[in-house]
Amino acid sequence: MLALVGKIFDGEKIIDKGTVIIEEDRISKVIEGVEIPKGVEVIQGNFIMPGLVDAHLHFFGVEEDNVLSWNIVNDIDVAIRSTRDMEVLLRSGFTLVRDLGSKVAVRLDKLQRRKEIIGPTVIASGYSLAITGGNDDPKDLPIDIAQRLSYSFYCDSPYECRKAVRMAIRQGARVIKVYSSGAFSQGGKIMPGFALDELKAIVEESHRAGLKVASHAYGKDAIMNSILAGVDTIEHGLGLDEETANMIKEKGICYIPTLATYEIPFEVSEPEAKVYREELVKRHFTEDMKIATSYGLKIATGTDYVGSRKRPHGQNYREAVLLSKYMSSLQVLKASTSIASECLGVKSGYIKEGYKADLIVVKEDPTKDIENLKPTNILYVIKEGKVYRGYGLYQP
Ligand SMILES: [Zn+2]
Repeated sequence: MLALVGKIFDGEKIIDKGTVIIEEDRISKVIEGVEIPKGVEVIQGNFIMPGLVDAHLHFFGVEEDNVLSWNIVNDIDVAIRSTRDMEVLLRSGFTLVRDLGSKVAVRLDKLQRRKEIIGPTVIASGYSLAITGGNDDPKDLPIDIAQRLSYSFYCDSPYECRKAVRMAIRQGARVIKVYSSGAFSQGGKIMPGFALDELKAIVEESHRAGLKVASHAYGKDAIMNSILAGVDTIEHGLGLDEETANMIKEKGICYIPTLATYEIPFEVSEPEAKVYREELVKRHFTEDMKIATSYGLKIATGTDYVGSRKRPHGQNYREAVLLSKYMSSLQVLKASTSIASECLGVKSGYIKEGYKADLIVVKEDPTKDIENLKPTNILYVIKEGKVYRGYGLYQP
């Protein structure tokens, strides 16, 4: 048994002084005030909250940020670096992450659940689903080699896409990731992704298996197709407008703007694509976020970090800091915990009786400054009742 005493954010509200009792891997009691059962180990006097969530990342195990590197990186390096990144994420306060396309995440998920490696709970998509010649297809390579090296299944037509969903499920996917569009590309345009009939088939097949669908969507057309097809989360969501925001709100879809990835310059080879990217990104940080918050969308923290030098795992708290420009610190904490968990369909993100004991002890109060969620402020991470030192106390 373990007791945590301090100021508590329980996933919904603040308790100025409270006690959390943990028995085995569960939270057995949350008490307002200080009430410590006899003979119990106590961690005292700091800010206690549910573990952080990154609802959109990739275990790519790369150094560089470009499509070719992501595909051709050595598989063994990916496994080793990603195992390291799992521990880094945990000690940085993350107890739940969702990987939306990589070669190793379903295995990390499995090994973490078997307690063979330490790290957050991983909800992994396995390979993502993409069109042939799409965003993540390294087109300088012959197609057979590109497909062999890819972290996506390329599929075209509703029938192939149903099969691709089944292939991802066969790998061990707990969510399905689709590219409803590409990203910024030649001629200053957004590259197309799946057509509506393909998206509908993917969603139907995924939902039949009880899996949610996460849709990478750039531009209004892709957002609209995602909504019409019935996806569960919209990733990136650049080009949100009043019409699509209204539909997203009505259908209860989650909006994951992944601001953290856009604050870092991306390698774009074509000058035209670069200008267009800058325009769209600027709009994302202003108009898109204004619309998303004014419609009260379910916004969750997701970084799209890949574990590279510029987007390293461990700095994923940046998303919370960026969101704090648009919402109150209490709302940011919800977006980082309870709302993100709900978007992933995982029963966590709350400090409540019966919930899994996934929580963190923070040195300084993040409701005063969200920057206080940085790794060196994380004192303890409790994952399923087991106590780990965070980077506030841990020297690698
Ligand atoms: Zn991504």
